[in-house]
Amino acid sequence: MSDLLSKLDPPQRVLMGPGPSDVPARILNALAAPTIGHLDPAYLQLMDQTRQLMRQVFQTENEMTLAISGTGSAGMEACVTNLIERGDRMIACVSGVFGGRMADVAGRYGASVDLVEVPWGEAIRPEQVEAALKAAPQTKAVGIVQAETSTGLLQPLDEIAEIVHAHDALLVVDAVTSLGGMEVPVDRLGIDACFSGTQKNLSCPPGLAPVTFSQRAVEIMDRRKSKVGSWYLDLSMIRNYWGSDRSYHHTAPINMTYALREALQIIVEEGLVARFERHQAMHRRLRAGLEALGLTYIPQHSLPNLNCVRVPDGVDDAAVRRQLLTEYGIEIGAGLGPFKGTAWRIGLMGHSCTARNVTLILAALETILRQSGSLIEPGSALAAAAQASDA
Ligand SMILES: *Cc1c(COP(=O)(O)O)cnc(C)c1O
Repeated sequence: MSDLLSKLDPPQRVLMGPGPSDVPARILNALAAPTIGHLDPAYLQLMDQTRQLMRQVFQTENEMTLAISGTGSAGMEACVTNLIERGDRMIACVSGVFGGRMADVAGRYGASVDLVEVPWGEAIRPEQVEAALKAAPQTKAVGIVQAETSTGLLQPLDEIAEIVHAHDALLVVDAVTSLGGMEVPVDRLGIDACFSGTQKNLSCPPGLAPVTFSQRAVEIMDRRKSKVGSWYLDLSMIRNYWGSDRSYHHTAPINMTYALREALQIIVEEGLVARFERHQAMHRRLRAGLEALGLTYIPQHSLPNLNCVRVPDGVDDAAVRRQLLTEYGIEIGAGLGPFKGTAWRIGLMGHSCTARNVTLILAALETILRQSGSLIEPGSALAAAAQASDA
């Protein structure tokens, strides 16, 4: 009983895994603001502001831009279930866990799913998408992950977006690990449905999923013959709450909206260009340091904000991660699926993406790897990182 009633005291961590990332005090303070009603005019005004800020970060003018109650996966389900009717064909591009998750979700809502696959760590090639669309010309939507967090891959989208639109299909993009850390040019690419989550580059606690739909996607939703497969995620009702009707659908997570608004303000204050440059600059430093430690990158094109490297031969993956956590308070991610036990995933997301954290993790990893017998010249990681930051 004494433990059950003890004071809440979670440890201080440095979150450098695949999410969640560190949350700035300003956002934690926003969460602690008074809870008000979900129909209070003051709250409705905050929702409108949050929506405007989401449009800026998604680089879109889309009217249908809102936050789904739930994590990134709820955003994924919302995009799929609102666009797909039982029997529709959808192409899912799979280069890791999250493309696979989108295929699973689409199948559960009754889509007939065609997979476009590549080995983990490789990018989906435009000609593969073209061939799949030619083989299934009645395809309604193509789903693809921009930042595949399981492999650290940055998926180029420009050519694929053109091909999808040339075949008159809808482009659905998973931007959970890209939004707020790199370009997600929704309007420029004509992305029809795009979803993200709060706990990655937005540096907010998990709990909301920003989503945006193009006018074309909204029109296709409006022409549905059947009801949306999920009551909770049905945008035809949720949009009336975010829109001028303000009709109750479900109780909004009020305090999470405060936090998201604060997180988006922080991004807009920093400026998108400056923020993306910061992520690139810290990635260059980290990469130089990791490579000086003999670690090699797995994906064909690395994300700036998620660095997926091979665990060196003879090094105990779990022991190193445990030591990082217990001795240095640093969390990094383990490998998933085929990379289980053989990869580390080091995040540089949002508030976690700082020179201080790059220095901390490089010094900690160098110390741990040297203790476990690796022949590394002392100081080499930080020297390489410093050189990369001068370049
Ligand atoms: C984290 C992540 C998700 C799932 O988000 P949750 O918040 O864990 O539900 C989906 N796609 C990608 C690319 C992710 O990184």
